[in-house]
Amino acid sequence: LSVIEQAEPSIQAFLTVSGEEALAQADAFDERHAEGEAEDAPELAGVPIAIKDMIVTKGIQTTAASKILEGWVPPYDATVIEKLKAAGMPLLGKTNLDEFAQGSSTEHSAYQTTHNPWDTERVPGGSGGGSASAVAAFEAPLALGTDTGGSIRQPGALTGTVGVKPTYGGVSRFGAIAMASSLDQIGPVSRTVLDSALLQEVIGGHDRRDSTSIPMDVPALAAAAREGAKRDLKGMKVGLVKELSGEGFQPGVEARFNEAVSMLEEMGAEVVEVSCPHFPYSLGAYYIIMPSEVSSNLARYDGMRYGLRVMPPADVPQTAANMMAYTREAGFGDEVKRRIILGTYALSAGYYDAWYGSAQKVRTLIIDDFNKAFDQVDVLVSPTSPSTAFRFGEKTDDPMAMYMNDIATIPANLAGVPAMSIPSGLSDDGLPTGFQLIAPQKRDDVLYKPAAALEA
Ligand code: GLN
Repeated sequence: LSVIEQAEPSIQAFLTVSGEEALAQADAFDERHAEGEAEDAPELAGVPIAIKDMIVTKGIQTTAASKILEGWVPPYDATVIEKLKAAGMPLLGKTNLDEFAQGSSTEHSAYQTTHNPWDTERVPGGSGGGSASAVAAFEAPLALGTDTGGSIRQPGALTGTVGVKPTYGGVSRFGAIAMASSLDQIGPVSRTVLDSALLQEVIGGHDRRDSTSIPMDVPALAAAAREGAKRDLKGMKVGLVKELSGEGFQPGVEARFNEAVSMLEEMGAEVVEVSCPHFPYSLGAYYIIMPSEVSSNLARYDGMRYGLRVMPPADVPQTAANMMAYTREAGFGDEVKRRIILGTYALSAGYYDAWYGSAQKVRTLIIDDFNKAFDQVDVLVSPTSPSTAFRFGEKTDDPMAMYMNDIATIPANLAGVPAMSIPSGLSDDGLPTGFQLIAPQKRDDVLYKPAAALEA
């Protein structure tokens, strides 16, 4: 808590610090421990954690970094929060993000700008820039993020932290504020690969309250990470995704990526190039499917049920419809409005087949690409993000430039497969780069071994 106090004026990773609650949780766990009731507590018991403000926490304000939820104090905990509490992990507070997790720089937060600890003139990536910066600045040893198109992995790359998007359905989404439900997934942010493995083991597993949750046990992730630390990858086949390199990727990012690939080879892995011919269309498909789901999910912020309510001025009819319009006009930021409008258009009767229908077909082709690739190799690799951390304001006026950040992370969300970003050394500009690993569905354990080997 004292590190948070020192770092926050320059980093601004937290929207809410729940210090008193954290200390009370720590005391409660100590008590359980003293009474011999914590014998089978997980290894992370007692380790504090920061939570992206996209995940609901009972009794602690949860905003999704939007004005529309300002002051909303959830009456319940997300499943992942219940699990953290049961594991004896104190909650340090809620971290900043792009409003409703929509963005790649955390500049779309309605509240504050989070700074990258490596260079405070630069963005930490997004949408989970708060969680990534909090971990990178040693304000928290661990954090949770949400990843719809890269919001755990891209900030991981830009801040030199580890970030994991688990298999879709591997971690419960109950209590994760919905952005695009078919893509959203909660996952770990940490400084080491083993820490993410231990954290994913705590938060993962089947949950009856999430209808898309997979009824299966969490794979043995920490064991895979510990195995990887022995740096023996004989028998492992690694695929370089041909479409995720070259044009648009910063030379320093590619250089660090190629060095990591050589390390995998030195440790005994066989590396081959694989082609995923439909990946160049994934960004286009994502920016139809995601806003469609956003427009539907965000319809619930109507001024009736949660947070903000703005009544129309006296000269405007005081109808429910007008109240909703004034509330949404005042409560949502520009980027959120842009996506609601895009999505509403893509789903509208006359255009549904041309836009949403086509995008869903592309999604199937991308899933096919992955299936064919995983017939040939165990794990796919690419740079996580095409560039290192950019300066504030550099991309805010150009949505396309901002969207291009997710070129390498989006395919995994469209296919529901697990993916991880690990730090991959500094680019020529002295800023962190990220190395991405992608594994087949339900095989999150396959990510952890080579990731831990590279880290060691
Ligand atoms: N940057 C992507 C977007 O703006 C991803 C967001 C996310 O993963 N939540 O949609």
